Amino acid sequence: MNANNRRAALFGCHFAAWRAQTNQPPVSLPARMRPLDRHSAAGLFAAHTRSAEDVLTRGAAMRVLARVDGRPAAVLGRPHAREFERTSALRGRTPRGCSCQGCAAVAVHDHLFGVDSPEVLEHGPPTIAFDSEQMITEVTTRVTAKVTPEQAGRVLADADPRNWKHAAPDFFTASDPGTYREGRWTTQPWPGDTGGLLRETVRWNWNAEDTVAVDNVLRIEDFQSSSARISYTYRLHTCLQSRFLVVWDSGGLDVDEGHYQAVYDATSETLRIEASKSVRFTAPSNGPFELALSLNLMGPATVSMLLDKLVDVRQLGPSTSPEGAA
Ligand SMILES: [Zn+2]
Repeated sequence: MNANNRRAALFGCHFAAWRAQTNQPPVSLPARMRPLDRHSAAGLFAAHTRSAEDVLTRGAAMRVLARVDGRPAAVLGRPHAREFERTSALRGRTPRGCSCQGCAAVAVHDHLFGVDSPEVLEHGPPTIAFDSEQMITEVTTRVTAKVTPEQAGRVLADADPRNWKHAAPDFFTASDPGTYREGRWTTQPWPGDTGGLLRETVRWNWNAEDTVAVDNVLRIEDFQSSSARISYTYRLHTCLQSRFLVVWDSGGLDVDEGHYQAVYDATSETLRIEASKSVRFTAPSNGPFELALSLNLMGPATVSMLLDKLVDVRQLGPSTSPEGAA
């Protein structure tokens, strides 16, 4: 499965989950921006999933779809779905960690496909707030998982904003420290250890046709990192450019802020992560005004997908360890 299809299928599932839980009127999106419906997304996963990244993404999609209609196995396709049902029935009698429908589905999926995923003990439902006056989407989430000290070390390293590009390469093509003066970006280490500016380029897909992207400078503040914890806040310093309609154009969002905190307790071997993210899109300078409206109507799905990726403790297999990352 190529990265466009993978991102499009995952986004389709997040969009379906958001539509199922909101009481907002149905949104009417331009054809080219329309996300895959959940059946098409499921079809892509069922037909094409091969690589380690595909398997991780499909598990994440199952967790999201479990919130929609409780039939997450639809993304597996036969005969995996039958095997999934059999294994689920067996495991139902020996619950491990959180037993909600999403966690149960992911645990069985990962067991079937050889992903050694940590036991999730507890998590909140992701809270999605969409302020239709301000057009701001805010998502908050938390998760507590049982992980070894070595796994905790990797999660804490991946959570450093400078390592987002290693931790989630499907979404982040850049996440570099540096300076921004008189309209010029220079990549260089932060002067101190409490944060600094970060240039991030994030891409995602509404559907399999176009990859969309934003290129931002964020200010990372209150950065604290030790062997057992990492925490920081971030907010938009400036949006350099965005690519929503084929070409890069200046502007694209004017709110992008939140916080991240992960704390590891070595005695109980539990890792607790909390994160939040707020975003508001604007029309790029040469884009139509309606574009911002459509972007914000999809905001809850976009923001929950990105935040989900940053708190996903399943990406701990050897293939996704941040080798060479600082
Ligand atoms: Zn759960």
